[in-house]
Amino acid sequence: MLLLCKQCTYPNLPIETLCAICGSTIQSKEDAAENKELWDTLPEQVRKEFEAKYKSGQQRYHSYLKFLKRNLKKHILLGALINCVFSFVSYLHSMPMPWLAIYLVLALITGGITGWMLNYKKGGRFTGVIIFSGAYFILLLINGLHMLSVGVRPEYISIWWIFQGGSGFVLNGGVGYFIGLKLEMDRFNQWL
Ligand SMILES: [Zn+2]
Repeated sequence: MLLLCKQCTYPNLPIETLCAICGSTIQSKEDAAENKELWDTLPEQVRKEFEAKYKSGQQRYHSYLKFLKRNLKKHILLGALINCVFSFVSYLHSMPMPWLAIYLVLALITGGITGWMLNYKKGGRFTGVIIFSGAYFILLLINGLHMLSVGVRPEYISIWWIFQGGSGFVLNGGVGYFIGLKLEMDRFNQWL
């Protein structure tokens, strides 16, 4: 089992105290010293095997980063489209807005940031749920604020509207779950 940095998940040698990639502390100086002592007592053959294991982990880490970079545009686009579609469906069931175009552009931007964030976080199903439902919530909030600002008309407040808003929230979060999970699986397949 490789010792992974808690911040960026880079596999540093177990005798280091600071991560070579992000500089955060991976273990206390005492633990590192203890590991170093153990490390030095290892037979050369075994130590070389450990080193090789870490080296290949580090190479896979870098190629995984390249994979994320290659797919960044795709993730941004996907996040933007998903958020835009869900926010538009949510809009259809709320009061008409004079500035629909701005609303949709906002949905595209928040969705794009969503895709970028998930890529930056290297996936994760729960991260996906939080980020995706968060982006949808922002648009739902804008929608709600608009309704409040122009005065809520009773015909627009229905169980269906609440259900629709809530289900959009859950659905967008659900899509985030699967995209986060997919990225998480890519991480395990390609790197760990
Ligand atoms: Zn790190």
